[in-house]
Amino acid sequence: MCIRDSDYGISGIAVFQLSIAAVQAVRTGKKAEIILDLFPQYTENDLQELLENRRNTLKISREEDLFTGLLPDRMIKALITKKPKDAVAYARLFKELKVTVQDAHSFERAQVASGGISLSDIDTKTMQSRKIKGLYFAGEILDVCAHCGGYNLQWAWSSGALAGRSAAK
Ligand SMILES: Cc1cc2nc3c(=O)[nH]c(=O)nc-3n(C[C@H](O)[C@H](O)[C@H](O)COP(=O)(O)OP(=O)(O)OC[C@H]3O[C@@H](n4cnc5c(N)ncnc54)[C@H](O)[C@@H]3O)c2cc1C
Repeated sequence: MCIRDSDYGISGIAVFQLSIAAVQAVRTGKKAEIILDLFPQYTENDLQELLENRRNTLKISREEDLFTGLLPDRMIKALITKKPKDAVAYARLFKELKVTVQDAHSFERAQVASGGISLSDIDTKTMQSRKIKGLYFAGEILDVCAHCGGYNLQWAWSSGALAGRSAAK
């Protein structure tokens, strides 16, 4: 998913799950914003305390050194450009990092694509087209976009087996 203020954006399992809804919203003219909690294991107060302790006890020559070991380097570089003024502002930023969705990444980089042949045009007991007899469909060419966890592969295999068996009959 592409977001503002970034060369590329965010990715990963949770983003894959959200991307269909977020991108559909953006493409229909709505605003989609994602709020990331970068430290779900800490409360905002715990985080603030942690950052204050690090600043007081570590010899820090560069601002980004404060976060070494807490966040990936590239993320630290991006976040400090937002210039939070103190530990309170950093803790708030890390607990509620707001990113505005611009669009999905390119089709070439997609793992799953939504859209395609509508299921309403298919007899799902056989996977045969309702429009053209003898034509069967399976997998991702159909408008099925499943959750992460192997469900897209499962759909491809199961619908493929069904389409194949039905066509053979
Ligand atoms: C990087 C990546 C990671 C993924 N990870 C997961 C995952 O972890 N879990 C999960 O469930 N899903 C995952 N997916 C999605 C999953 O792989 C697809 O949903 C699934 O493979 C779709 O199966 P399919 O048979 O419909 O299409 P495809 O697997 O795309 O197969 C279509 C085949 O048709 C061939 N073909 C195309 N045009 C022609 C033509 N004109 N003539 C002859 N052959 C042609 C292609 O070469 C290809 O071999 C991932 C996808 C990608 C890209």
